[in-house]
Amino acid sequence: MDHLVSDMTISEEEARQTNIAFTQPAQPSVSRIVHYCFTQHGDLIHRPAVVVRVWNRGTEQEMVQLVVFMDGTNDGPEFASCIAWRTSVHYSEEPQHHTWHWPFGCEQ
Ligand SMILES: [Zn+2]
Repeated sequence: MDHLVSDMTISEEEARQTNIAFTQPAQPSVSRIVHYCFTQHGDLIHRPAVVVRVWNRGTEQEMVQLVVFMDGTNDGPEFASCIAWRTSVHYSEEPQHHTWHWPFGCEQ
């Protein structure tokens, strides 16, 4: 089953030894930590986020709901709580506004 294969996890050390790229995406699922991207004042910002729901799993319309950990008021006065809810977020390997990607290999 493709799902079982793509959902396998290995340690970082195993990945180094076997030269498996960390950019291999697993399926998004509830509780996984990802990066959420958004543009602000012309800059592309990456913030950690937890997947709280997956929509349309395994289809081209797959999206996730995220609880995003913001950099407090450094990201704007509306983020004093450090928490933001972002909905219907699509995956994009190339970071762009209102998308998510795996943190592995991301330099941010
Ligand atoms: Zn990132």
